[in-house]
Amino acid sequence: MEIIHTIKALKTFLQTFQNEKKKVALVPTMGALHKGHLSLIKMAQQQADVVVCSIFVNPTQFTDPKDLEKYPRPLVHDIKLLKKVGCNVVFMPSVKEMYPAPENWQINLGPAEFLLEGEFRKGHYQGVTQIVKKLFDAVNPDVAFFGQKDFQQVLMIKNMINHFNLPVKLVSCAIIREEDGLAMSSRNIHLSTSDRKNALILSKSLAFAKDNFKQLSLTELLSQAVTMIKNTPGVVLDYFTIVNGDTLLPIADKNEKNPVALVAAKVGETRLIDNELLG
Ligand code: AMP
Repeated sequence: MEIIHTIKALKTFLQTFQNEKKKVALVPTMGALHKGHLSLIKMAQQQADVVVCSIFVNPTQFTDPKDLEKYPRPLVHDIKLLKKVGCNVVFMPSVKEMYPAPENWQINLGPAEFLLEGEFRKGHYQGVTQIVKKLFDAVNPDVAFFGQKDFQQVLMIKNMINHFNLPVKLVSCAIIREEDGLAMSSRNIHLSTSDRKNALILSKSLAFAKDNFKQLSLTELLSQAVTMIKNTPGVVLDYFTIVNGDTLLPIADKNEKNPVALVAAKVGETRLIDNELLG
């Protein structure tokens, strides 16, 4: 596996493959890799000839400096995992490499930018799309893989691809969960033993919404799910909502297309998100 730190070296390495019309895939990550990330790599391997995994903790998408500071960075462990799954290239640039000079980034991501995560983490999706565009420019991928775990992120990246009319295919991959249902996340390592137990209410409330979507009214679904979460100690709910997956606006009718339940909550000191497709 190639370990590359600069855009120039990455472009040089990939050029040979691109000259031969080989298909290049990109899997952007912030590291602290787990089985969720590896599922993206495996999916990429099935659809491309060369798989590049980037590991970059992008400062511009963090709204809380403490969150950025404590973000886990187990690089040796990450490299070992990527080698084991047969990833071809890991791109691990410095902050200076990705942001050599201060820059303004403000693109139109549509009204959904300001909903849900966008409301709680102001400017988050400008930062996300800023770094993903830079990674696309560095790799020039045919296809890029993202997790449905970050549902709104997939939508925002789709909008960014449309905004610039980029020739990149975007693939959204299913959420990988622990055996008991907790969605895998790099932030789960911050959960204490009791947080870890309490955090299960997120996936449980989503499963409740999915299992009862046909039988219960939207009002009942939402109120019961919210009550379940609010009754769990150590969990502070930011939102539990059922939206149209294209607009992220709450649905008024269960027959609306692409319904999805999304939840975000602070469990102890750790903020977690999760979602479930209901259609
Ligand atoms: P992150 O390192 O958290 O920025 O995540 C990198 C990519 O992995 C994103 O596209 C995430 O949506 C995806 N991802 C994170 N957790 C999971 C999971 N549990 N299952 C599937 N994909 C995931």
